[in-house]
Amino acid sequence: MRVLIKGAGVVGLALAHELSGHGVEVAVAERQADFGGAASWFAGGMLAPWCERESAEEVVLTRGIGAIDWWDRALPGEVSRNGTLVVAPARDAGELKRFASRTSGFEWLDAEAIARLEPALAGRFREALFFPGEAHLDPRRALVLLRQKLVERGVSFVGETDGDSGHDMIADCSGASRIGTVAGLRGVRGEMLYLQTGEVELSRPVRLIHPRIPLYIVPRGDGLFMCGATMIETDDGGPITARSLMELLNAAYTLHPAFGEARLIETGTGVRPAFADNLPRVMRAGNTVTLNGLYRHGFLLSPALAEEAADLALARNLKGDAA
Ligand SMILES: Cc1cc2nc3c(=O)[nH]c(=O)nc-3n(C[C@H](O)[C@H](O)[C@H](O)COP(=O)(O)OP(=O)(O)OC[C@H]3O[C@@H](n4cnc5c(N)ncnc54)[C@H](O)[C@@H]3O)c2cc1C
Repeated sequence: MRVLIKGAGVVGLALAHELSGHGVEVAVAERQADFGGAASWFAGGMLAPWCERESAEEVVLTRGIGAIDWWDRALPGEVSRNGTLVVAPARDAGELKRFASRTSGFEWLDAEAIARLEPALAGRFREALFFPGEAHLDPRRALVLLRQKLVERGVSFVGETDGDSGHDMIADCSGASRIGTVAGLRGVRGEMLYLQTGEVELSRPVRLIHPRIPLYIVPRGDGLFMCGATMIETDDGGPITARSLMELLNAAYTLHPAFGEARLIETGTGVRPAFADNLPRVMRAGNTVTLNGLYRHGFLLSPALAEEAADLALARNLKGDAA
């Protein structure tokens, strides 16, 4: 069986991994020379199914839980299983309680326990929620390493192609570029930045609850921190706005004033592809399967989506179904 995957973002690569692992001959067509056009490049890399339940359907939790093991198996040693810490300034204590009421899988921490877990935050917050089962990875490393692994497995990477050149199945994994051609698909702009400082050390993603500007900071090692992310209803992928930059920096400063002295290494924008219910879809029409709508959950839900699409492809192959 031969499958052509269009798009080398996280879901395209996850599907290539699933299919090639089952002996399928896979080619991946990517229109960009690097990952810079992919929303996946700008992600936080949080594998946070319990925290995401705060604003997402239960299915994001149930389908997302397996992602941590999936990434560990696919890229051994790349997943940090240190949990997630959620904090709020004293004036937003009510927001933290609301977050707790909408989630599960956490324990309450007092100021001393916060200081034991993240010494850099000692004395800054009175209480926090700790989600011990969550994990994170560096999405940029993960994308590069996954692609390398696929090449070693014999998966070929080619430029953009219109033709299907005799493939048994086409998998369209081209993300937000399909807005306007896939019914109901919209863009949710996410702006982020990288800060670097030797003054703060964190071991896990920290989410700062705020009624207007929620922030998360994901440590990348060597004093580098990814800070994100805005959620703006538009498919405009242009540079970060001054307002978003100010708000993200303000929130980082609230988490720890040392971020005020940090170097601003990079700003970026990714457009999250999303359907109205913010849940992803695997959609089949003829010999084309479309995987899209990963929204805020590309790294969290790609494994489940890729497994679903691979099952579809393999079942179809067994039946010799040419529909
Ligand atoms: C700031 C930000 C933070 C995020 N944080 C997280 C997080 O912490 N955890 C998490 O799970 N998710 C996170 N997400 C969500 C996640 O990044 C997205 O859900 C995911 O990247 C979508 O992946 P995708 O493969 O569908 O699309 P993309 O990553 O956009 O990939 C699509 C690819 O298709 C290519 N392409 C387009 N058209 C064609 C064509 N015709 N032919 C060939 N190639 C084509 C594009 O160049 C691109 O490389 C975040 C997103 C943003 C923006």
